[in-house]
Amino acid sequence: MTKQWRRREFLAAAAVMTAAPWPAGKRGAVSLTFDDARPSQLDPGMALLEKGGARATFYVSPQRVRERTADWKAVLKAGHEIGNHTKSHPCTGNYAFSRKNALETFDLTRMERDLDEATAEIREMLGVTPECFAYPCGQTYVGRGEQLKSYIPLVAKRFVSGRGYLNEAANDPEICDLAYLMGTGYDQMPFTEVKRLMDAAAREGRWLILVGHDMGAKKFQSVEAEILVETCRYANDPANGLWLATVGEVARHVAGQRKSGAL
Ligand SMILES: [Zn+2]
Repeated sequence: MTKQWRRREFLAAAAVMTAAPWPAGKRGAVSLTFDDARPSQLDPGMALLEKGGARATFYVSPQRVRERTADWKAVLKAGHEIGNHTKSHPCTGNYAFSRKNALETFDLTRMERDLDEATAEIREMLGVTPECFAYPCGQTYVGRGEQLKSYIPLVAKRFVSGRGYLNEAANDPEICDLAYLMGTGYDQMPFTEVKRLMDAAAREGRWLILVGHDMGAKKFQSVEAEILVETCRYANDPANGLWLATVGEVARHVAGQRKSGAL
């Protein structure tokens, strides 16, 4: 047996020993996230999460928070997490709402300013410095064509995690980039599909991050009240092997596992 072969065997055994990256009794992780600081997240959103016994991550732009600062402070007090979602919410100009604030016309300097102003305003209004970030519309670039640049490195420098949107996979804790986490669309999703995704996360040892917008109503870009509560109850049932936690909690856990060499 060569020395190299023995090393390979040792690494394989070590991989089996550390193949459970989640806390005891948990086989996968789920995070509930909601974007844009929409009023429905406060009412009825807060009450629905309380009913389901869940804490969530809210990615906010400062302007909407300023309209109801005391209510957003209460969100933090209830144990939820507040993340940065830029100040001006730039997306591709192909979306009509972003035509005058298009990523195609941005450069990295302007994006840095947008990120840092949002952080400063959130800190000033709510007294917390956001550790997590969500890319508006899930888009991660500035500019276009040969001059296009990714702004993921700016996010990696400033935040523990960055979350995408409308991605088609849950996160593999071994390989995932904390600065660009996959986010799965949650709006208007029937519970059978939510359950299928959560079961797959538990089976595959993955971290499912669900992304919603409005809360409570049955309409475009909204998570229905019953489905939200049912999601929380299913994820909280120990029989299903899921760790329901905020993005910050799971991201710090994954980072810690990597630092200690367990992942
Ligand atoms: Zn958004």
